[in-house]
Amino acid sequence: MTLRNEVTQSPEESYMSDVPTAVQPANSNPSPERPSKEEAMKAVETLLRWAGDDPKREGLLDTPKRVVEAYREFFSGYDEDPEEILARTFEQVEGYDEMVLLKNMRLESHCEHHMVPIVGKAHIAYLPDQRVVGISKIARLLDVYGKRLQTQETMTAQIAETIQKVLKPKGVAVIVDAKHMCMTTRGVHKVGTTTITTQIKGAFKDDPQLRAQFFEMIGSNVIG
Ligand SMILES: [Zn+2]
Repeated sequence: MTLRNEVTQSPEESYMSDVPTAVQPANSNPSPERPSKEEAMKAVETLLRWAGDDPKREGLLDTPKRVVEAYREFFSGYDEDPEEILARTFEQVEGYDEMVLLKNMRLESHCEHHMVPIVGKAHIAYLPDQRVVGISKIARLLDVYGKRLQTQETMTAQIAETIQKVLKPKGVAVIVDAKHMCMTTRGVHKVGTTTITTQIKGAFKDDPQLRAQFFEMIGSNVIG
């Protein structure tokens, strides 16, 4: 089930926390023709001129270098393999057969249409079947998909599908609730709008009680 709607929310969160991102060897999704750092810096210079400024003025001299380095961090998710992150699982803790929920995880991404930030939070739950994964791995999975150019709908589905495929749980539920800077700082200028996307599979779909428990636990008064 994919459900999308919009609600009005409180003031902007500040963008970018200091979450460290490990850049690892390219594997799952390498760009076939990644340009050199110098070429990328040249492109930033072109954009500065396109904006109407002078890349040679003092304040902008180091900007291309800063921008390309920031891009390596914003888009470090291309260098990691999401399935590999979840691959190391543990035999289920004895007797634990309830939902595992990571709630209110910060999400940072960039929209693939305008290359501006998407910032919000994600709730990810699964109902284990024999195997569990370290909870930090779920958070890393969110980062790997977040640190790519995205649409929120695609990212929500990718997270749920990867968990389903690798962990094979009885069910998985993902909710992403985020603000798109392309909605708030340009175009329609709808400040305060958040977009909510959900992807619900298996037991969370078939068992209304489990689904209700999930929405209750994340404190959602929007859906369900
Ligand atoms: Zn956009």
